[in-house]
Amino acid sequence: MSKNLTKREEDYSKWYNELVVKADLAENSGVRGCMVIKPYGYAIWEKMQAELDRMFKETGHSNAYFPLFVPKSMFEAEEKNAEGFAKECAVVTHYRLKNDESRPGKLMVDPNARLEEELIVRPTSEAIIWSTYKNWVQSYRDLPLLINQWANVVRWEMRTRLFLRTAEFLWQEGHTAHATKAEAIEESEKMMQVYAEFAENFMAIPVIKGLKTESERFAGAVETYCIEALMQDGKALQAGTSHFLGQNFAEAFDVKFTNQEGKQELVWGTSWGVSTRLMGALVMTHSDDNGLVLPPNLAPIQVVIVPIFRTDEELDAISAVANELLTQFKKLRISVKFDNRTTQKPGFKFAEWELKGVPVRIAIGPKDLENRTFEVARRDTLTKEVIAKEGAVQHISDLLEQIQKDLYNRALEFRNTHITEVNSFEEFKDVLDNKTGFVSAHWDGTPETEEKIKELTKATIRCIPLDRKEEEGICVFSGGKSTGRVLFAKAY
Ligand code: AMP
Repeated sequence: MSKNLTKREEDYSKWYNELVVKADLAENSGVRGCMVIKPYGYAIWEKMQAELDRMFKETGHSNAYFPLFVPKSMFEAEEKNAEGFAKECAVVTHYRLKNDESRPGKLMVDPNARLEEELIVRPTSEAIIWSTYKNWVQSYRDLPLLINQWANVVRWEMRTRLFLRTAEFLWQEGHTAHATKAEAIEESEKMMQVYAEFAENFMAIPVIKGLKTESERFAGAVETYCIEALMQDGKALQAGTSHFLGQNFAEAFDVKFTNQEGKQELVWGTSWGVSTRLMGALVMTHSDDNGLVLPPNLAPIQVVIVPIFRTDEELDAISAVANELLTQFKKLRISVKFDNRTTQKPGFKFAEWELKGVPVRIAIGPKDLENRTFEVARRDTLTKEVIAKEGAVQHISDLLEQIQKDLYNRALEFRNTHITEVNSFEEFKDVLDNKTGFVSAHWDGTPETEEKIKELTKATIRCIPLDRKEEEGICVFSGGKSTGRVLFAKAY
């Protein structure tokens, strides 16, 4: 099974597309740019959702739901936001079909059913939400408003890739309103931090926290915080964003509150989101030429037990031992599957679970019953060991924790060895052509230089790292003054 997978070295992009489909995560659909997320992929997304949702609630947020459609005039209210998303908007113009007289059995849009005002299918929900907040906020007592929505959005992307960039995608979007600027900035930074912790502790993906430059900033935001990850092919991926919106949306939608002195003030806002793109990040960070490698925290099946048997009696004897294991694993809340299918050979099962990234495989044969042992294989390192039956469950529980840590450390090592400081444009291009990864370079702070570098190298400024050293330097491209290094990379 895994033999059919293209090797990463040969064609990384092809490897990715094949893996997503073969591992049953998702597939392309009959709708341009839109994917079908299959049960196995959706189970991983649900695990991400559950953990993020827990983290949002722990930081004081509540879930709500707002409409899919935004009337055009409402969408236009915050001009920068509207302008930024205009080219990617799907627009509903009619509300009815009718029989097409010239083509029997076919339908056409009923020209008499044109909407008075067009509806935009939300590419993001600031407009609809801030138009609602106008009614929810009157006094300082109504603040802060800390709301999250789990939803789908539509952005008419021209070049789509499963999970990484689709026309419709699933995400969560937090939208908060605050009485002060400081509180709103604190909220945007806090949510970037939540995303970073989630990526690192849960997905085992190291990220760099930073600020976007003006040209990469969210349309309508004053500042965009982001977490940036590095994929195995040396390309960067924006894994999450958190925006400080200033008073832009409050102004556009006239959201004011009476402060403690009885004066009217505009509200301060934030919004933040992560999407099904994280599924792509997960695949591209850890997986290998044999298939998916899933961190135990996100694996729908953490342990699979495969019996090796010839006769029904052998299967019965192995099943008795396997069932003991199942009970013990369930007590520890470890998700385990006993693959006792009689329709497939062990070799087929091994390959299938390897492709699907199950972190630990236990094989039990007649010999193991005699010796009171199990063969345990790790998906991440592809190593095997024989362990004693006594204490096996605890051993595997510890092993899962170890795998989680090892995956993070391996990704961190890769990321850290793929950040290269350069001091000339020659070096800059050389890194992008050969080693790839992040290039840490001085930049003069102008959008013009940023644009020229992008034209020449396809690399963009991924972020201005929050923990960067403030130091005087010379821009690698223009020779202009710089106050610190920024990270460039080619990106998804
Ligand atoms: P934004 O609202 O543009 O800040 O994006 C919020 C999150 O959604 C970010 O983590 C983006 O990486 C992600 N995202 C943006 N566009 C897409 C897309 N077409 N498909 C999947 N994820 C996306």
